[in-house]
Amino acid sequence: MRNKKGQFIKGSTGRFPSLETRKKLSLAAKRTMNGFKKGHKIFLGHHHTDENKAKIAVAHRGGKSYNWKGDDVKYMGLHNWLRRNLGNPKQCEQCGLTGRVVKGRWNIDWAKVEGKPYERKRENFLGLCRRCHKIYDSVSPIPA
Ligand SMILES: [Zn+2]
Repeated sequence: MRNKKGQFIKGSTGRFPSLETRKKLSLAAKRTMNGFKKGHKIFLGHHHTDENKAKIAVAHRGGKSYNWKGDDVKYMGLHNWLRRNLGNPKQCEQCGLTGRVVKGRWNIDWAKVEGKPYERKRENFLGLCRRCHKIYDSVSPIPA
């Protein structure tokens, strides 16, 4: 109810819409708002979404490849360091196989000792032939 000045009279509910009407109104209002947003930003929104998607994809790929490269470089750097400083392992420390070039490649690898960090220390590595390396890697738990 309104008084003569058009003000709402406190406590009056007579003129207020029913709960059902209010629900409908608020839904309609939400739709209108969404419509407004979409209507005004549809191109921009799409553009941004695609751009963001692309950015995310690139960042994801970049991050992934960075990590992969990072790990690989670290790993390769370490192995290069081992070869440079210690040479190729003379023999397999597991089965005693003598190191030699097989198919153009030295047949004994430096394997990181399980539980040891990737540090440039001789004691962190074991000279293992391909076969023992495979066995060693398969029996040792995958490092976290
Ligand atoms: Zn071996």
